[in-house]
Amino acid sequence: MERRRITPFARPSEGSANVPGSKSHTNRVLLCAALADGASRISGALFADDTEAMLEAVRALGAKTVIVEDEEILEINGVGKPPRFGNLTVDFRSSGTTSRFLIPVIAAGHGTAVVDGSEQLRSRPFGEQLAALNALGAQISSLNDSDELPLEIHARGVKGGEIEVSGEASSQFISGLLMAAPLFEEGLTLKVPGRLVSRPYVDLTVEVMSDFGVFVEMPDDSTFVVRPQTYAPSNILIEPDASAASYFFAAAAITGGTARVEGLNAASLQGDIEFVRVLEKLGAKVVWDDAYIQVEGRGLSGGRFDLSDFSDTAQTLASVAAFADSEIEITGVGFIRAKETNRIAALVSELTKCGVEVSETNDGLKITPNKWLLRGAEIDTYEDHRMAMSMSLIGLRVPGLEIRDPSCVEKTFPSFYESLEMLRPKPQKRPDLLAVIAIDGPAGSGKSTVAKQLARELRLPNFDTGAMYRAVAAAALRANVHPSDLDGISAIAQTAEIAIGERIFIDGSDATEEIRSPEVNQLVSVVAATSSVRKVLVPRQRKWATDLGGGVMEGRDIGTKVFPDATFKVFLTAELAIRARRRFDESSGVSFEDVLSDLKRRDHVDSTRSDSPLEVAPGALIFDSSRLSTEEVVGELAIIFDTLIEP
Ligand code: C5P
Repeated sequence: MERRRITPFARPSEGSANVPGSKSHTNRVLLCAALADGASRISGALFADDTEAMLEAVRALGAKTVIVEDEEILEINGVGKPPRFGNLTVDFRSSGTTSRFLIPVIAAGHGTAVVDGSEQLRSRPFGEQLAALNALGAQISSLNDSDELPLEIHARGVKGGEIEVSGEASSQFISGLLMAAPLFEEGLTLKVPGRLVSRPYVDLTVEVMSDFGVFVEMPDDSTFVVRPQTYAPSNILIEPDASAASYFFAAAAITGGTARVEGLNAASLQGDIEFVRVLEKLGAKVVWDDAYIQVEGRGLSGGRFDLSDFSDTAQTLASVAAFADSEIEITGVGFIRAKETNRIAALVSELTKCGVEVSETNDGLKITPNKWLLRGAEIDTYEDHRMAMSMSLIGLRVPGLEIRDPSCVEKTFPSFYESLEMLRPKPQKRPDLLAVIAIDGPAGSGKSTVAKQLARELRLPNFDTGAMYRAVAAAALRANVHPSDLDGISAIAQTAEIAIGERIFIDGSDATEEIRSPEVNQLVSVVAATSSVRKVLVPRQRKWATDLGGGVMEGRDIGTKVFPDATFKVFLTAELAIRARRRFDESSGVSFEDVLSDLKRRDHVDSTRSDSPLEVAPGALIFDSSRLSTEEVVGELAIIFDTLIEP
């Protein structure tokens, strides 16, 4: 099977991404134009699998379509009345909207039709729509005695009248009934008691119908009345797809960068624009211009979000949640189990592969992020374009992520990967780049060896800042300063002469081995947690890199405190047991259990101290080295760093 490896962004996203026309808008407009009495002009339409399915079907119903100017403009000459056909077969491919919108229209026409779709569409439910249409006077039956495709339609007009439909299942049924309703002999009075999921999609339907001169009356919140009418031709500009735009806005939130999508604004007809408000609540800064929406990532908090009205972005939010600071719960989307795939189950299994803690709830999912444990994986996409697009986002900050069957995005967004590339930070000329590479991570993650080799490969100097804290601890031990004497320790930090290089010197004497002793191991975290010590050492570390014009620096707070604007930030990690095994193999005379518990203790002290705790820096690449050799990690980092340099 085809696979696509996502190369992470070395720095936060920037720029604008091209987003194709809205699928939902396009397919509604195509249908209304095909039913209109005359010629319509449509600009900005989406050309993808789902809309090709609709175009083919409306041609089969007698509409004439002409694509002009490189797919920029589409002309449709509509049929103007209920369509007439002899023996028709229609293939909806995998398009839910095409099927749910066309079945009522075909039923309202005259002729015989067999309608079918892909295996995937065959497994989606049609029972409710059949029952409703047959109750309104249509003659539709399933060819295999079920609620599923293929269906046979004996079309001889639909009488229409009043009917009640549940709003719980899919708003596509309701949109389909509404758009066909002007063709019904007596029109339609549609009652939708209770909650209507994805209400904005129904509003979009009503809006598009009115653009084509058909009016839907809404005497109350749950009643729609459509009288027999004829659609009038119209000229329409399709909005960029808000669900598709969600991936780029999410990319900005995840990488801590910027992403702009032109042609969308706060007044958009598409409900999925609401996703931007979720990012705003999570901490992103949003510029709502008339001509564009721009998201600037600024950290990610947690929260609970009801996505029932914009469920197509649930997968996007789930990927964002993997990078959040606290739990994110997505509610109100139980019904996405019946989309292209069971989206909740698919998310649980793919996010789990990437090291995300995620659990399924009755109506959604709960994601408990632990950025330390994120890792790349081979992602299954279940023939669901949105699985491929949303999971790709994790690969922007996590190396080693591969998308299986990447071309499933063609359903709605054939140029998705190219558009994502538009947000990649632009490369610079090497001499203009002050290359500070920050490598942070817990003990045993492989920082020292990786940093050394990467520095050699990129011909940059290398600085192990941990050695500096160790040297202070060693000097304190030499001077017999008691571990609880923090003033004494900070005095040592100020006065001891520490030289960090191939070998480590304290006051002129070689301490290279001394700083790795069990006594230093024991003391160093306490030393490093002392603010007055950091106040002395951090400026020295900054000066080192600025004096040398850049370098590879490793430590615990390089990306967060020492160089928050580092050119390239990496959080190197590995599973606890693997880190302990590495440390155990390097040491002698200590048991594995002792190494493990010492590591746990240091992880705890380093990540919970109040001054510069060890944490993933905003936008940093998260790289799990558990199953990789140093060469593999260095090779991957060099490739990613290279994307910053103009060839
Ligand atoms: O990397 P290494 O294990 O040699 O670092 C020793 C200790 O120094 C760490 O456990 C941490 O407490 C401290 N350290 C730090 N900030 C850095 C580098 C190291 O607090 N930038």
